[in-house]
Amino acid sequence: MARIKAIRGMNDILPDQTPVWQFLENRVKEVLGRYGYAELRMPIVEQTDLFKRSIGEVTDIVEKEMYTFEDRNGDSLTLRPEGTASCVRACEEHGLIFNQVQRLWYMGPMFRHERPQKGRYRQFHQIGVETFGMQGPDIDAELIVMTARLWRQLGLEDAVTLHLNTLGNAADRARFREDLVNYLGAHVDKLDADSQRRLSTNPLRILDSKDPQTQALLDDAPHFHDYIDDESREHFERLCKLLDQAGVAYEVNARLVRGLDYYGKTVFEWITDELGAQGTVCAGGRYDGLVEQLGGRPTPAVGFAMGVERLILLLETLGKVPDAVRQQVDIYAMAMGDEAFARLFGLVDTLREQTGLRIQLHCGGGSFKSQMKKADRSGARIALLLGDDECRAGVVTVKPLREALEQRQVPVEQLADTLASMFVEDQE
Ligand code: ATP
Ligand code: MG
Repeated sequence: MARIKAIRGMNDILPDQTPVWQFLENRVKEVLGRYGYAELRMPIVEQTDLFKRSIGEVTDIVEKEMYTFEDRNGDSLTLRPEGTASCVRACEEHGLIFNQVQRLWYMGPMFRHERPQKGRYRQFHQIGVETFGMQGPDIDAELIVMTARLWRQLGLEDAVTLHLNTLGNAADRARFREDLVNYLGAHVDKLDADSQRRLSTNPLRILDSKDPQTQALLDDAPHFHDYIDDESREHFERLCKLLDQAGVAYEVNARLVRGLDYYGKTVFEWITDELGAQGTVCAGGRYDGLVEQLGGRPTPAVGFAMGVERLILLLETLGKVPDAVRQQVDIYAMAMGDEAFARLFGLVDTLREQTGLRIQLHCGGGSFKSQMKKADRSGARIALLLGDDECRAGVVTVKPLREALEQRQVPVEQLADTLASMFVEDQE
């Protein structure tokens, strides 16, 4: 029978990769914690209407990327393609928004039926941050400064650039959209196929087109920044000033529009050149209209989401994953003979408790040589050996595996201290 395989674009994350994921996740949690953000965990399935109403009917996601199915009750459900809508739903449902300020984050898989390629998958992971109840540019700046700090913590600060734009308010966007459609409508034949389609569905996305001829055409098109109202302009200027003060560099990119309908005012993306076309590792912006659009009271909101796979690709490409991250075991313990094993079995557990070191116990017997091979492969720095001789003498052989140091015999009662001192630098 043919073997069943994973679904295309949905990846297993194997044990040699999970340490890198954990490294990234831990750094992110640490940074978010320092800014006082709290975690929210949402279901991965929601009513289809939640996404249709929030993301917008004519966006790529809703038009062609959602995993939608009917459950046994005949309800239309969708695997979440992003987290913002779910986050708003959850907060509304539990009364976390009205008259309150929230700083939240979440992490987990998202699902979009896209063409799988490097940096683009059908199940991928985002770490998202959403804030509610703050309308000034101060919180926009905080989010951006926080991401900049994260890049520094990950060693990625030289690999990403910040693109920044303002989308103004809904009425100005509508005026601009109309003028843009009129202008581009007169040159339809010069537009790429995607942009031709978007002309009637989501014309602002055309600004985003990578096609050179379309981009050339846009040079003479109406300019978005001529349409921005005073309030949005001032909001943007104050944001830029805060970023200047914080020493965060940015490029104002008037053609940066986000794929989703709900953004207004601030939008931003962190982009890298290292990953080809899938260069956006973090994207977000302000969405003051969304809570109301989903049935709540008008609430200012701003957030962003990072693509975990892309960040990991970037870390790997640039060699920024510290070696220690991949090392899962400090010590490999092995015994020769049943009696020695029985003693070692209890001893290693005491050592784990006393030292906090990661100790892997060899199980399954075998020759000294084959056990040594496994010890070497485990990545451990030190092997502990216990045989009949050691048992009789009340010692354990401590054998360095990575450094050119002599092995030595250590009395059992001194073992915990000896091992702890050997790992002392790593623990700091
Ligand atoms: P793109 O333009 O690359 O399709 P997007 O605008 O659709 O991105 P968002 O919805 O803003 O992406 O999601 C935020 C981040 O999530 C992206 O910047 C990216 O890092 C990541 N991301 C989005 N879609 C995928 C995917 N299919 N596979 C892997 N990562 C993704
Ligand atoms: Mg997309």
